[in-house]
Amino acid sequence: MANLLRVIQLGNPNLRRRAQPVEHVQDERIQHLIDDLIATAQAANGVGIAAPQAAQCDRLFIMASRPNERYPHAPTMEPTAIINPRILAHSNDCVKGWEGCLSIPGIRGLVPRYREIEVKYIDRWGDLQQGCFTDFIARIFQHEYDHLEGRVFLDRVESTQDLMTEQEYQSRIVASSSGQAH
Ligand code: ZN
Repeated sequence: MANLLRVIQLGNPNLRRRAQPVEHVQDERIQHLIDDLIATAQAANGVGIAAPQAAQCDRLFIMASRPNERYPHAPTMEPTAIINPRILAHSNDCVKGWEGCLSIPGIRGLVPRYREIEVKYIDRWGDLQQGCFTDFIARIFQHEYDHLEGRVFLDRVESTQDLMTEQEYQSRIVASSSGQAH
C-alpha cells in the first residue's frame, strides 16, 4: 500500500543536495519509495517527482506523464522509475517550454531544454535500460535529473521575465492552448 509523501519546498536545504547512487534497487526501502513517489506525483497532478523532493537523497525519480489539470496537453505514459540515470548525449537544439514543480507551488517558468536526449538508467527491476526521449518526456527527464543534482527549474530560466504565477499561466497559456503550453 503506497503512502503519500510530504513534498519539501523551495528553501529546504535537502532540495539543494546532490543525491547519491542507489546501490541495491531491490531493497525494500527503495521499492516502497518508488511506490510512494508514484502515488504522491499522481495525487498532486505532477508528471514527475524526484526522491530529493521527498527529502530522500537517492538518485531516483519517477516520470508519470498523463494529461491532468496542471498539464492538460501531457502525453500518457506508464509511471516509470528511473534509477541512477545518465544523460549520454543530447540534440543541439533547445526548446523553451513552461514548467512547474511540486516543490515550487504557484510559479511557472519558461525553461530551455534539449529537445532530444539519449539516456541510460536502471529500472525498478534492476535492469539496465538505454534509449532516447524527445519533447515533453525529454523535458520531464531533464527537470527531474536536475533535482538529483540539487538544481531546480528557476536556476534555468533565462530571465525573471520568463516567470509567471500559476493563475496567470492557467488563464493565458492553458486557455490559449498554444503548442508551448507544455
Ligand atoms: Zn520539480
